[in-house]
Amino acid sequence: MGTLQLEVVTPDKTVISAEAEMVVCPGVEGEFGVLSQHVSLLSALKTGPLRCRISDRDEYLFISGGFADVNSNVMTVLAESAERAADIDTARAQAARDRAEKRLAAHDDAVDAARAESALTRAVNRLRIAGLR
Ligand code: ATP
Repeated sequence: MGTLQLEVVTPDKTVISAEAEMVVCPGVEGEFGVLSQHVSLLSALKTGPLRCRISDRDEYLFISGGFADVNSNVMTVLAESAERAADIDTARAQAARDRAEKRLAAHDDAVDAARAESALTRAVNRLRIAGLR
């Protein structure tokens, strides 16, 4: 099977730079898969898992927002934050989940509910993806 060059980058670092056989991404309009020689594509991403197959092994990453660009057999994922499943700190994600749940349960006008919901979505996804490692 052919491969495509996958680059997953955040404002801080390159998280993956590898030849992948397949990539499945959390697009804002649903999951989509990319194989070698895919047509050009630009898609906004939502928070969720990115799955890639590298050397016949599936690897999972956490991605929060950003864009995926596919062009000339290179896929660039530019994410706000991204971590390989093995690098997710589950204690930190549990603490973030508990904090967000408390804020949402307080029904306090001073709480930015949308921000707390986003933090909760990130934490729950990190915990789920860490469980897939
Ligand atoms: P927290 O409240 O714990 O900071 P957050 O969802 O607000 O969580 P982000 O803004 O998504 O954090 O990420 C900030 C930075 O911290 C990024 O570099 C991200 O990769 C890293 N990060 C956040 N949570 C974790 C985690 N549980 N494990 C590993 N890295 C994390």
